[in-house]
Amino acid sequence: MLDANAHVAQTVSSRGFSRLPHYFTKHTLASTKVVLVDPLPVPPLASIGLKRFADFVRGDSNGITYIDTIFLKPTQSKNENLYFHELIHIIQWRLLGPDRFLLAYANGLECFGYRQSPLEAMAYDAESEFAGSTLIFNAEKLVAEKLGLQIRSNLRLYSADQYAALGQVLIVNQTVGETGMRSGLLSMCLGDNGRGTANPSR
Ligand SMILES: [Zn+2]
Repeated sequence: MLDANAHVAQTVSSRGFSRLPHYFTKHTLASTKVVLVDPLPVPPLASIGLKRFADFVRGDSNGITYIDTIFLKPTQSKNENLYFHELIHIIQWRLLGPDRFLLAYANGLECFGYRQSPLEAMAYDAESEFAGSTLIFNAEKLVAEKLGLQIRSNLRLYSADQYAALGQVLIVNQTVGETGMRSGLLSMCLGDNGRGTANPSR
């Protein structure tokens, strides 16, 4: 019976969680779709040439967010903390837009590994605040502020050279396509003084 409904998309608001409405807008909860499915779908990321995106799926192994849809394993259907984590990704996707989200996510994986990649670190930090305290905060504003911080502050996440490289990656990507983008990502990480291409989380 569960299987019969597994592919029917619901919305987060229809799940009836009590805490999420204090952290996200009504619009976000009503417009974010939820699909319970196992195994989780693998987005067609190979088609954009980013092998590292396999980590995207392995990392959040109980859930994955793709644009405006959260895919969860059915065993997690009542895990409000996991919904919270994936909703942080929903806001990231929305604020960055798909192109910039994918670029930033790929770059983060390449340079920092899954758990320390900036977009994941943001989701995990916010999730642990949500899980560890009843203190209410505006999660959407938090994401906007942190993304703004990442874009403005080279000190925190990227050196000036890396940041310049990121700009070049964007330009290269627009002009020569995915091969250029991949080599841009790689060269950026090689300049990262040893944090580089290591993946400490695995
Ligand atoms: Zn995540």
